[in-house]
Amino acid sequence: MREIGVKKHSWLSNPLDWVHIDRMILLAVMVLLIPLFFGSVLALCLVFTPNWLHPRTALFLLAVYAGYAVALALFIAAAFRRRKTNERWSLFENFIIASYVIVVFLQAWLSGTHFTGGMLLMMIGVYMTSALADIRKIFRAHIAVAVLFVAVCFAEGSGRLQYAPLFAKPPIHPDGSSTPVWFAVQIAQITALLVLTRIGLMATQRWVERENLFREMSTIDGLTRLTNRRSFIERSETEFARASRVPVTGISCVMIDIDHFKKINDTLGHPAGDTVLIQVSALLLREARQYDEVARYGGEEFAILMPETSLDDSVKIAERLRERIAEHAIDVDGKKIHVTASFGVASFPAAGIHTIGDLLKVADEALYKAKYGGRNRVVATRKKIRAHKAPAKKRTRKR
Ligand code: GH3
Ligand code: MG
Ligand code: MG
Repeated sequence: MREIGVKKHSWLSNPLDWVHIDRMILLAVMVLLIPLFFGSVLALCLVFTPNWLHPRTALFLLAVYAGYAVALALFIAAAFRRRKTNERWSLFENFIIASYVIVVFLQAWLSGTHFTGGMLLMMIGVYMTSALADIRKIFRAHIAVAVLFVAVCFAEGSGRLQYAPLFAKPPIHPDGSSTPVWFAVQIAQITALLVLTRIGLMATQRWVERENLFREMSTIDGLTRLTNRRSFIERSETEFARASRVPVTGISCVMIDIDHFKKINDTLGHPAGDTVLIQVSALLLREARQYDEVARYGGEEFAILMPETSLDDSVKIAERLRERIAEHAIDVDGKKIHVTASFGVASFPAAGIHTIGDLLKVADEALYKAKYGGRNRVVATRKKIRAHKAPAKKRTRKR
């Protein structure tokens, strides 16, 4: 058995992060509201409008609610003990889903609300659990609900099953208006539906927040807040494909690497190195054009994708960025330091560049040349496309 004592979480944190058994405890507590709430409404109806109800059926339903509440409470108590050693309890999950379907079905059939509020209550209740429970079990529960209701409808229509056996008199007046007891049933259902949809919305909202967080984590670099390498390559592929269709506009890529960055880490410490990365990133983002993609390509390496930009224009922009970085005083713990960076530029269309991989590689080669040539400079790889010559026509001498 696995010890999960270490995996403690706050009960106020996102339930999607909880272990299975804790999510089931939460689910069971929510489901417990059903017998408590509907049981109270039924008890009140028994006290105030006793002659509208069949007392035996009403007492039977009350006993079901009471038994259900006790069973859930016992399961919750057992789960609290079990969570010390187990993080999963499938039996508990099965019990919650199956018992919810059975109890809500029973109350919906007995009160004749199965094709109105009962159906909604069941579907929304079961759907709400989907964020916390096993989706395949929820799907099976949905199928069971649909089959149950069709079967009841058929049995009632053929006279085999009594319609709304909870009521001693028809709960609706001949003119269609509600009797007090029917009114109480409807109000109880609307209240339960409101609570369930509210909880469902909260769960969906949490889900959306989580999705956004994951999306951000998968596309943005945590330290510099620039686009990360994976996302940069994705956008580059799209832009390259576009540039290949309309080659007139061209596309450029600039690779940037901070010079002697290791020395900053070694002399001023890793946090100082981080500050430099953050500030250089902010500067690049500020200076780049809105539709350019500025990314952290590696440790102290950046890449800028410039759609619809010629080699000459991208070299001009790279030169401007190089100057800005060199003149920018970076504040590291009150001390002003200066860094420089080397730039490699490549553009498409050019000879030998057929894919985005080629473009990045050629820009990287140019960056290497900038390093090799002394750093703090921009090097562009110019690969002219040779004009395709038409084969010369053989001259034929006129006679
Ligand atoms: P060159 O001029 O040839 O580029 O030399 P360099 O020192 O900049 O390059 P080198 O590749 O030798 O060192 C890069 C260093 O960047 C090594 C690595 O520890 C550091 N680094 C990579 N990622 C981070 C980071 O996120 N934070 C910090 N502080 N340092 C990092
Ligand atoms: Mg470097
Ligand atoms: Mg490097």
